[in-house]
This record gives sequence, structure tokens and C-alpha cells, in this order.
Amino acid sequence: MSIRAILCTLLAVSVAWSHPNLKSRGGPQVYGACIKPNDIALTFDDGPYNYIRNISDQFTAVGAKATFFMNGNNWDCIYAPDRIESVKYVYSKGHMIGSHTWSHPDLRTFTTPQIQDEMFRMEEAFSRIVGVLPAFMRPPSGYYNDNVKNIAFSRGQNLALWDHDTGDADGNTTAQSEAVYNAVVDSKAKNALILQHETKASTAGTLVPYALKLFKSKGYNVRFSFPNPVPTVLNNFFIKLVTMAECLGVDPYQAVGVAQQQTSSWTCNGTPAPGEGCDSSIPCKTGKPDFIPALEHSGHVNITAE
Ligand SMILES: [Zn+2]
Repeated sequence: MSIRAILCTLLAVSVAWSHPNLKSRGGPQVYGACIKPNDIALTFDDGPYNYIRNISDQFTAVGAKATFFMNGNNWDCIYAPDRIESVKYVYSKGHMIGSHTWSHPDLRTFTTPQIQDEMFRMEEAFSRIVGVLPAFMRPPSGYYNDNVKNIAFSRGQNLALWDHDTGDADGNTTAQSEAVYNAVVDSKAKNALILQHETKASTAGTLVPYALKLFKSKGYNVRFSFPNPVPTVLNNFFIKLVTMAECLGVDPYQAVGVAQQQTSSWTCNGTPAPGEGCDSSIPCKTGKPDFIPALEHSGHVNITAE
């Protein structure tokens, strides 16, 4: 029996011990690292922009999942026809989408209504385009304070940070960014939550292929649930590339419903410009967006007493 076959047998047994549907809940939290052993989550900020489908396809081709933290009005308007299709595309492929605020401001400098507005507009966009309410909000540049945190929590959203930054948006060369992936592997990190940016051509063209190849060499594409803790004999053998929610064992969305019909109100006109907030000329939206719940299943039989 080969070592591979032995491992497969051990792993099959391990599946029986595991709890694949375990969702640890208890209110929104600030997450700065993955929890599940051997899970690596690659997260891509600032889209939807030009490289999102390319990145999506690269992950899909190897059975991996990516996470995209999106803006409404940053590098482009999320309601531009091609961007709407891109959001639908990556969602349909099973990648995770989360909020990165509407206009990518420094939320620490915003008033409470302005912060609410930044979160509302992204909830509204996701609710309209794919019919989900996000459970994760990544504050731009990772900047937040207690007010930002409390507002996110009140809107049912976790704060999503990271523990490894490729620096692809901060002037790092690709070699410097690749060194971040190498460090994860070389240190035999228990898991990793890595920041990239979808808006960078070199990220899509160089970093993502490098990362997928590197982690594949460590066997990431073996996908199943490990028991927790992972038996020592299995530890460090297999790494999985998963969504941020999956590496935490929580739900990616507050609710999953139905996409809405597009109307003329799907526009970035009259909304906060990149880096700006709502103000006297752009009323702040602080409520809950329209959301269409999934239809109840047919086959439900009503029994009426006579
Ligand atoms: Zn950003």
C-alpha cells in the first residue's frame, strides 16, 4: 500500500469524525486570521474591475475558491453593465463576495450616518445584483475604530482583516509579493489569510499563477473537512485554498435570496465619489436595503383541519 493510499484511508476515517456543517456563531466578530488548520484564504480587494474574471477562472480551474471584497464606486461603478456581470459571474462560480464599502474612504474620519451609508450602499448593490446580504465587511486599508466596528456589527457584518499582505497595492515588486507566499509555506503556518488586489494586472498575471502553483505543490487541492485538531500525522500534508468564510467555519452571507430586476436606480450618479462620503447634497442612507428572500419551496403541503 502506497503512502498516498494510507493517507487516503486515514483521511476517509477522519471525514467521519468531522463536522463539515459546523458554524460557530455568536454575533459578528473581528477576524484577522483563519481558524481552520491548513486553510489558506486569498482575498482580493477594490474590484469589481478588469481582472476579476481572470482571477476567478484561475481559481475555478484548480478547484479552489477566492474571496472578493468589493467597492461600489472606486476603480469603476459596480452598476456599469460589465461590472454587474462580473459580480454575478464570480458569485455563480462559488467564490465569496464581501463589502469593502461603497467609496473606499477612511472610515475613521466619517460620521455615524456616513459610515452607515457606506455599508448600506454595498448591501443594496449585492442584494440587487445577486440577492445576498454580506456577512463580511473589510474596512478600506484596514482602518476602523469602535464606532465603525459597532455599526458593522449592528448591520450583521463581521470585520474582515488579514494576517499576510502581499503589498501588491503598496509598491511591492512581484518578487517581494511572492516572498510573502513563500514565507507562509516555509514557516509551515497553520493557516493564512492573505491580502491582494484585484485591480492590479500583475496580481492577476503573475501573483495568482505563482500562488496557485506554490500551494498546489503542497497539495492544497485535496478538499474535505479535517477533524479538529488535525492528527499530527496529517498536519502539513494538505493545504486547501478556500474562501475566508470557509477558513473560519462561518457563513459567508447573512441571507441568501433572489436577485432583483435592474432599474434606472442602479447607478453611481448621485452617490459618494471615490474617497468621499454622503453629505448635504447626497443624503445618507442608513436603513436596510430591499432584499428578496428565496421563495419557499413548493412541495410544502398545507393541511387544513375540517
Ligand atoms: Zn481597498
